[in-house]
Amino acid sequence: MDFSFSSEQQMLIETLRTMGKRENFKELAAQIDSTGEFPHHLMKKYAEMGLLGMTLSSEYGGGGRPAIEAIIAIEELAKFSPMIAAAVFESNVGPVRVIDIFGTEEQKKSIIPGVCRGELSVSVSMTEPEAGSDLTSLSTTAIEHGDTYILNGRKAFITGGGYASHYLVYSRFDNIPGYKGIGGLIVEKDMPGFTFGKQEEYMGLRGMPSCDLIFEDVVVPKENVVVKPGDFRNLMLTFDIERCGNAAMCLGVAGGALEEAKIYAQQREAFGRPICEFQAVQFPVVDMAMKLDAARLLVYRAATGAGQGLPSIYESAMAKCFANEMVVDVTNAAMEVYGGYGYSKEFPAERMLRDGRAWRVAGGTINMLRITMASLIFGRRFDQRKGK
Ligand SMILES: Cc1cc2nc3c(=O)[nH]c(=O)nc-3n(C[C@H](O)[C@H](O)[C@H](O)COP(=O)(O)OP(=O)(O)OC[C@H]3O[C@@H](n4cnc5c(N)ncnc54)[C@H](O)[C@@H]3O)c2cc1C
Repeated sequence: MDFSFSSEQQMLIETLRTMGKRENFKELAAQIDSTGEFPHHLMKKYAEMGLLGMTLSSEYGGGGRPAIEAIIAIEELAKFSPMIAAAVFESNVGPVRVIDIFGTEEQKKSIIPGVCRGELSVSVSMTEPEAGSDLTSLSTTAIEHGDTYILNGRKAFITGGGYASHYLVYSRFDNIPGYKGIGGLIVEKDMPGFTFGKQEEYMGLRGMPSCDLIFEDVVVPKENVVVKPGDFRNLMLTFDIERCGNAAMCLGVAGGALEEAKIYAQQREAFGRPICEFQAVQFPVVDMAMKLDAARLLVYRAATGAGQGLPSIYESAMAKCFANEMVVDVTNAAMEVYGGYGYSKEFPAERMLRDGRAWRVAGGTINMLRITMASLIFGRRFDQRKGK
């Protein structure tokens, strides 16, 4: 068991830290939060640096790197803001990975190179207004019609909605009930009958495009099917890598909050001394560091285990659940270190708490992750439906 970074990983971290300083990402993070504008200008730069699609297959323009490297990159960039890390997240651990693993040759050729160049992006479209945790009750339908499927339904809370070029839409094929009827197909942004709802107003993650997707008799060619109904398990397995990315966002936000709190505690004086000299300030900072490190070990274990493939369900669920709770504890503690200034928008702590709070819902709630882990611990499935 080796807990150290390789020289390539160390170099990646240093490159990102240097870029963060050079480009003043701290300032950019505050700006994104106040304007609500996504930093599109970073796409080109990230593409040139090979950060987009670094884990995707090299034959289609990806970097062919192991998952852990994307996780490290997401963590480093999310120390400034999850919005600064978002493109690296989407292009490495998002639904484009599903296409990379299960897609057809044609789908890979038409999407992956564009994602790596920062010209295309893919959104995962699962949640519906009436089906979130209970995903298998989703009601968006794909009905066979000659060489096509006719898509009808509505998706909610879709990250990248309105901005992404492609959407991997989880749909019920030919009205087959239960999970057996669910598959995934690609819908392109400009397909007739496909429209978007209003931009979501979240507590945090300002700048992140997110909205409802509306499908009204959208004609989708059969060759756009990525995962057929009956292969729902495959669709969900690939989601585990996204869970590691979600957890890496938490590591980043919490790491950023710890850094800021450390700096502030050494600068701010009370009773004629820097507040870091009070144990009542030191101990919570130590607890922040302990929780962050524990989460980091879980996330790195899950991601390292994945190699260039997929992580274990148990390890990725545990890593996400722990990191999701950790980031709220750590950012909340950071606010405390800042005293009254922690509550002020002039300092980053309150933004980090708002940004950190999202991850325990996005990508599956901490309750649903515990249900997954319980079934693996007890070795049996606990059906959540009434009467079962
Ligand atoms: C910032 C953000 C980004 C998102 N991005 C995307 C995206 O890109 N694509 C996408 O498809 N979705 C996305 N989502 C949606 C997200 O996946 C869902 O919100 C989430 O799965 C929960 O579904 P829900 O909101 O319908 O809550 P519900 O399922 O209604 O749950 C409400 C509460 O009940 C609890 N609950 C429900 N059932 C059980 C049970 N059996 N046992 C215990 N507790 C239970 C839940 O844990 C939760 O606390 C995003 C959400 C957010 C906040």
